[in-house]
Amino acid sequence: METGNIFVISAPSGAGKSSLVKALCAKDNSVQVSISHTTRAPRVGEIDGINYHFTSHATFSAMLQQCKFVEHAIVYDNFYGTHVDSINNLRQKNVDIILEIDIQGAMQVKKIFPEAVLIFVLPPSLIELERRLRTRDTDDNDTIILRLSKAKEEVLSAKQFDYAVINDNFNDALEAIYSIIMVQRLKVPKVLSTYQF
Ligand code: 5GP
Repeated sequence: METGNIFVISAPSGAGKSSLVKALCAKDNSVQVSISHTTRAPRVGEIDGINYHFTSHATFSAMLQQCKFVEHAIVYDNFYGTHVDSINNLRQKNVDIILEIDIQGAMQVKKIFPEAVLIFVLPPSLIELERRLRTRDTDDNDTIILRLSKAKEEVLSAKQFDYAVINDNFNDALEAIYSIIMVQRLKVPKVLSTYQF
């Protein structure tokens, strides 16, 4: 049975990835995001089961031992992972799946699903990234400094991705990502899988 495509979207923190993913899902209901598990505490306004499955360390470790994660990573001292059920449920719906995950996770996904399409969202510049992190006001100064120091390293990792989209203008970046999705849908095996002979 033909299933939807898998798209991985990674970016340095503050590059605007979450807003882009949200807008993509709103634009096309055949695009759905996989909800990750994390041991991080919810931020103000975040809802369990919508933004993340917020999980204790003990539960996360138990799931890890039971090989319940397709990929997982430690990001800024917290565990994050994509649960196998999350992928399987979305695959059954035959939708295009977005994994909004970090670079370590993206590399693991590419090994398991070589057909996955890896998209890296770049901020216009690291100076602009700092400005965004500070105006977003969700992290303290130490966290911002930590995130900025990682960002340069992360931007260099874009080389390992299939596509890079610079989020300078939000709508342009959204259209660029959407066009990558549309192109994947036009791959011959995809088209023939639903073609009426
Ligand atoms: P935040 O705590 O700001 O929501 O996310 C921190 C980082 O963890 C972001 O880069 C985010 O994409 C990444 N992340 C979220 N969920 C997952 C996941 O399931 N796996 C991996 N590897 N990274 C994730």
